[in-house]
Amino acid sequence: MNRDAMLQALTTRSEPWDILVIGGGATGLGIAVDAAARGYRTALVEQNDFAKGTSSRSTKLIHGGVRYLQQGNVGLVLEALRERGLLTQNAPHLVNHLSFIVPNYTWWEAPFYGVGLKIYDLLAGKLGLGPSEHLSREETLRRLPTLEPNGLKGGTIYYDGQFDDARLAICLAQTAADSGAVLINYMPVVSLVKKNDLVRGVAVKELESGQEHELNARVVVNATGVFSDSVRRMDEADAEPMIAPSQGIHLVLDKSFLPGDSAVMVPKTDDGRVLFAIPWHGRVLIGTTDTPVSEAQLEPRPLPEEIEFLLTHAARYLTKDPKPGDVLSAFAGLRPLRKMGEMKDTASLPRDHSVSISKSGLVSISGGKWTTYRKMAEDAVNQAALVAGLAERPCPTANLRLHGWRNGEGKPRPARGAGEVWEGYGTDAAFLQALIKEHPGLNELLHPKLPYRGAEVVWAVRHEMARTVEDVLSRRTRALLLDARASVAIARKVARLAAKELGRDPKWEAEQVESFRELAAGYVLG
Ligand code: FAD
Repeated sequence: MNRDAMLQALTTRSEPWDILVIGGGATGLGIAVDAAARGYRTALVEQNDFAKGTSSRSTKLIHGGVRYLQQGNVGLVLEALRERGLLTQNAPHLVNHLSFIVPNYTWWEAPFYGVGLKIYDLLAGKLGLGPSEHLSREETLRRLPTLEPNGLKGGTIYYDGQFDDARLAICLAQTAADSGAVLINYMPVVSLVKKNDLVRGVAVKELESGQEHELNARVVVNATGVFSDSVRRMDEADAEPMIAPSQGIHLVLDKSFLPGDSAVMVPKTDDGRVLFAIPWHGRVLIGTTDTPVSEAQLEPRPLPEEIEFLLTHAARYLTKDPKPGDVLSAFAGLRPLRKMGEMKDTASLPRDHSVSISKSGLVSISGGKWTTYRKMAEDAVNQAALVAGLAERPCPTANLRLHGWRNGEGKPRPARGAGEVWEGYGTDAAFLQALIKEHPGLNELLHPKLPYRGAEVVWAVRHEMARTVEDVLSRRTRALLLDARASVAIARKVARLAAKELGRDPKWEAEQVESFRELAAGYVLG
């Protein structure tokens, strides 16, 4: 993907686009993949970087959601388990399977969770990743040597999918582009274009040049997550809010807090939340929280009480108690939950999605999860095609292999460690290796504590539309999430490599380093 070519294609087209998507997160990118794969002329505009919003800040699970089963939402679990199976087949380079252990500290937990997880296995059917089983106390501690042994009776093991959310977002952008879609980042929609009271396009601002453009379309799809009410208000000034944003945070710790390949899943903490401790890219991810917030923003910050909650609960289940100084990175995201009348808390709001169509034909999709992005896209494109009067074409994405697909069998892979992040590039890894062969200096690790090399920076800028140091360190690589301090230490090197690719001057480099330093300060505790 090349941004200049995308910009050219987007702004020089005189015919209207069949489908124009606002928002480059999981939902919008999934819609672009679907619409382009059906052969519709598709464009997508993102106000910041792809996956800058919620879609780079998830727990990184492709899961049915054991919690939703507890809530009795069998339909959502069934749908998500099917999607989990499909994504595992269509993007085996980006999804791995992971074992989760529910520790049992009271006599009733083993049969209770054992039965629940057997139902989970049954719902997954032949797309299951492995049968759940009861584990003895010894086996539980063998797999989770740092689990709190006091009072431990045993455990229940089950399997789910794990992925790298921002990398999957880039992979979706590439898949859409492979099918002819035009996608661009750093281009916010500032208003909707209406003709005869019908939405017929958008006005956008290209942030690098400051230029404004009008893009015409047969239908516009609003896939802006927690921002969707603001786009709906561009259509109807008094539109009732549909979204109840809920913040969830994660803390990233060193692997020594949870060595081994299994994750810990605590189905119910004191206040009824689910707690995960998950191995991810050679670190441990602890999450999450569910805090209602009133305002949608792109860079939410973890609240002191959320940090306290996670540290206290992690200490309860792990032998080594994490302290604020142990946290390598802390990040927050906002769930775009669908509003349901007067609510007590956001934890009980549904996680399914809905598509709505305004009087002027703006199609808005809200709710959902990363796991179900494909089904959400299918539903949204079906509706959008109707609104636009496009020829009906079947959705091909259930079996559409995503960009970089390899590993012929489409079998889930075991969890990967820190050194194996290259696998996420799929078939593109060969091009990165060729780049290194040409410039051996690009094979050097950027930092001893991070698994990333110079070649990835060059690749991200040349082929993945990274435009800033933050794009590279936060989403093309996950350096900011794996170790915020280490990521700051390499910002200058990254700025130099990116500047060379983008033809930018030393002033740009210095500004980039400074703004990344400011951003990263929000990911460090204390
Ligand atoms: P976003 O990713 O926020 O994308 C919307 C995009 O629209 C943004 O990039 C924004 O910049 C852009 N935009 C807004 N306004 C404009 C405009 N005017 N012009 C152009 N662009 C605009 N799901 C799972 O399946 N598994 C999990 O493990 C999981 N864990 C989660 C943990 C947390 C803490 C959270 C918060 C969510 C989690 N989810 C999980 C849910 C999942 O992450 C979200 O459902 C999904 O990422 C939402 O994607 P989206 O595209 O709708 O929103």
